[in-house]
Amino acid sequence: MAERPSPNHGYPGRLLVFEGLDGSGKSTQASLLGKWLASKGYRVFFTEWNSSVLVASTIRRGKKKGLLTPTTFSLLHAVDFADRFDRQILPPLRAGYLVVCDRYSYTAFARDAARGCDPAWVRTIYSFAPRPDRVFYFQVPVQVTLKRKVASRLKISYYEAGMDLGLSEEVRESYERFQGRLKREYDRLAETDRFTVIDAARSVEEIQRDVRRSLAPVLENFPTGAQLLHDR
Ligand code: ADP
Repeated sequence: MAERPSPNHGYPGRLLVFEGLDGSGKSTQASLLGKWLASKGYRVFFTEWNSSVLVASTIRRGKKKGLLTPTTFSLLHAVDFADRFDRQILPPLRAGYLVVCDRYSYTAFARDAARGCDPAWVRTIYSFAPRPDRVFYFQVPVQVTLKRKVASRLKISYYEAGMDLGLSEEVRESYERFQGRLKREYDRLAETDRFTVIDAARSVEEIQRDVRRSLAPVLENFPTGAQLLHDR
């Protein structure tokens, strides 16, 4: 079975993207799916949006001193993503891997729009990022993410709460407002960019079952490592 180029981006690999609010459970699901795919013999590469060395210290310093405007914040993250795309996403995609991405350009579309940047401008900046084969959107009410954060004793960060936008003096209230904005952006993107919407307020097992089921058409005729070796 040979690798057929993806109709979305033309590379032999497949790009599987996980998006959603912080605390929606996307990392949990991406990691479970990655392990399951590997156990089935697929060649899998997992990548998450962590700041690259290229801009991490600039972003950190800018955040600490409150120097970043929505535009500079957006541009720095775009540099960060371009670096991740060229170094981590593109090589395995070219080599025919299933590339599992915990966050992709849609994170920036939602976040930058929620911060007041022009959505069309943001799209132009990220025009180098090809359309994924599947975008899973883990849709969940903001209150559920808050409950999970409390249950896991995870701290709400200043920027996660959108405190820099002056929505409220109170962290929790600012978090609810800012994350509410993000959710509205994600819900809009789900329509325009045809996300696979997953009800993420359920158990880890139920969600994972849904993810695997809805991935079946992407995996159809996609070769495992053993099938590729056999053909060569
Ligand atoms: P994200 O990557 O979207 O921020 P995580 O996968 O890191 O989310 O999950 C955030 C927290 O919620 C973790 O403590 C995780 O164990 C917990 N969690 C993840 N999925 C679920 C779920 N379906 N139900 C309850 N808690 C969950």
